[in-house]
Amino acid sequence: MEVYKGDVLSEGIAVGKAYVEKSGFAKWVKKLGGKQDKKALERAINDSIKQIEEIKNNNAENQDYLNIQILLISDPILKEKTFNLLDAGMSASQSVDQVLDEYAQSLTSSTNQYLQQRAIDILDIKNRILSNLNGSDWRLADTHFIYYARQLHPSFLIQNKKKILGIVTNSGGYSSHTAILCRQLNIPYLVSKIKVKDEDLIVLDTRKQQIIVNPDQENLSHYEEIIKKLANESYQAVVHKDFGFYANVSDNSELDKVLEYNFDGVGLYRTEMIFMNTNRPYTYEEQYEIYSEAVEKLTFKPIYFRTFDIGDDKQLPYIKSYKKGIDNYKNNPVLFRTQIEALINANKYDNLGIMFPMIFNNEEFNYLRNWVLDIKKELGNTSQIKLGMMLETREAMEKLREFENVDFISIGTNDLVLSIYHINRNLQKEQMEKYINDLVSKIAEVVQICQDKGISLSICGELAAITNALKSFMKIGVKNFSVATPAIRVLNKVYKEFRVK
Ligand code: PEP
Ligand code: MG
Repeated sequence: MEVYKGDVLSEGIAVGKAYVEKSGFAKWVKKLGGKQDKKALERAINDSIKQIEEIKNNNAENQDYLNIQILLISDPILKEKTFNLLDAGMSASQSVDQVLDEYAQSLTSSTNQYLQQRAIDILDIKNRILSNLNGSDWRLADTHFIYYARQLHPSFLIQNKKKILGIVTNSGGYSSHTAILCRQLNIPYLVSKIKVKDEDLIVLDTRKQQIIVNPDQENLSHYEEIIKKLANESYQAVVHKDFGFYANVSDNSELDKVLEYNFDGVGLYRTEMIFMNTNRPYTYEEQYEIYSEAVEKLTFKPIYFRTFDIGDDKQLPYIKSYKKGIDNYKNNPVLFRTQIEALINANKYDNLGIMFPMIFNNEEFNYLRNWVLDIKKELGNTSQIKLGMMLETREAMEKLREFENVDFISIGTNDLVLSIYHINRNLQKEQMEKYINDLVSKIAEVVQICQDKGISLSICGELAAITNALKSFMKIGVKNFSVATPAIRVLNKVYKEFRVK
């Protein structure tokens, strides 16, 4: 039995067998010997090309982007460089890891923004080749497991959420989308470096900030008992007069908890997370079914869908993404339109709102608002739909008085803190004291502007579920908060203290 300490990114207790990511730990993947490494590498490259061809056939809008991916993978220089490293004694995985990391590095250090963005494409290609190379791709595991990786992207988590009992990674931060998703899906997540191999039994206990590898029988029985008890736990929102308690969700399966815990509605539905479930764009029919089911479930409670917000750590394999924001819609107009049509038609109870992420100025907001209104008119749809925006850029915050026709605003503190204070979302919780007072005073001005303009305001970033930040937001008059469902406990606690004072 070995016990390791870890930093907690999502709370909970889990017991299960380990599954160690193969491709992420490329350096540890063995050399096959002889000509076998070259053969395996060639096969992995060809499989990767085939997969992208298949994605391309279902995706008219991103042909150019996917063709570039194919060109990059087929590049003879890539093959030559990796083969040279094989000759020098490296394993196939190690050589792919090294060559493509070097490509990505050189793009990242470029001063050209377009090239910098393309580094993500290279890493995407690298992961694809590596997972084809390691036939025992973890995504193929068919039992429940605790996953150990160097780092983890949200798309992998989404595609395997039903199998993953818990996660340990070598690096990661509290506001990364992987951590956000874990908190929403109730999956315990710690950051640590541990020694573990496939099939070892692991216990994650975030209350003690620890990971036990191969626990003894006494510990095992103890934790199995606790897990049974936790499974029956339920929470209820306290009576919260004049305040709104909303939920952040990424999947319809979370809506049962929204109702069970008695939230007032969904304040942020991250629709891009739905899009990560497949290797091709969702059709109108598929989206309509998902949004309708959600709206139906919530019936008279409001539900605010955010239009797909891709970029940074949220990548889709079938779309070329741009800097987070409006360019993703302008360059993928069919995808945007399909989503909007499905949302508008799903609005049967007038409880649906649509919000746009990463807005920089009034022109952008109005461009998207008019686009939605035109589509609504073409559809002959007469339902009431609220159209609002995320406030998550310094530029929009500074010019907020200039905005027109905004029905509601939701403050995305994760991007806003990055935009104003240049603090990466992974470090925002630890470094909170550096910026929180200044941020609160800036948000106090937003509260005033929204009051003057009659715009309803909420906060949906991760700070809304951190006790001290939440206290300060309540003090300056913010009334609506949107958090992952388990954070109802934080809302309840802070609200009660606030009322007593
Ligand atoms: C935010 O930026 O605070 C936010 C809620 O959006 P996301 O975390 O999905 O970027
Ligand atoms: Mg954001």
